Amino acid sequence: MNLNSPLFDRIRTQRESRETPRETTIRCDSPGCEAEGAYRAPMGRLREGQYLCFCLEHVREYNATYNYFNGMDDASVARYMKDATVGHRPTWSMGTRRGQAGFREDHMSAVDPLGVYRQRFRRPQPAAPRRGPQHSPVTIRAFVAMGLEETADRETIRARYKELVKRHHPDANGGDRSREEKLREIIHAYKTLRAARLV
Ligand SMILES: [Zn+2]
Repeated sequence: MNLNSPLFDRIRTQRESRETPRETTIRCDSPGCEAEGAYRAPMGRLREGQYLCFCLEHVREYNATYNYFNGMDDASVARYMKDATVGHRPTWSMGTRRGQAGFREDHMSAVDPLGVYRQRFRRPQPAAPRRGPQHSPVTIRAFVAMGLEETADRETIRARYKELVKRHHPDANGGDRSREEKLREIIHAYKTLRAARLV
C-alpha cells in the first residue's frame, strides 16, 4: 500500500475541513449576531461557573444589565452578604485591624467581580419587582438566544418568536439559507420555553 498516495491526502483534507471550524468557533449568544463569542459572561447567582459567550459589543450590553441579585428581595440580599462575610472570612488577622469600610471593600471584590453589589450598597435602590421562580440554565439560555429578559411573559415571548422567525426565515431573505442555523436556534429556544411551560 502506498501511504504517499494522493488519495490519503484527499481523505485527510476532507476530514479536517469538516471538523475543524465547528469546534474552534463559538458564536455570540446574542440572537442575530454572527460575531465570535470570545467573551464569557457569568450566568448569575446559583449558576456560578456557568457562562454565556458574547462578542465584545454584546458582553458590554449584557454586563450593563446584569444583576447578580436578580430575584432576591432586599432582606435576602442583606442576609446573603452577612452570611458571605462570615463564611468567606472566618479569621480576622490580629494586628491588622482595619476600619469597617476597608473590610467591606475588600470582601466585595471577592464576591462581586462586576461591582453590582458595590453599586447597590452605595445608593438605595427602589424595591425590585417580584420575580418568578429561578429558571434552569437551559431556560436562561433560551431566553438569551431570543434576546428576551427572563421575566418576559407569554405574549412577549410569542411576539418575539414571530418577529425572529420572520427575520431569519429564508423566504424573508431572498432565499438566503445562511441564516438557517440561527432560525433553528430560535425554534429550539422557543421549544425549550414551551417545555418549561413559559409559553
Ligand atoms: Zn454579539
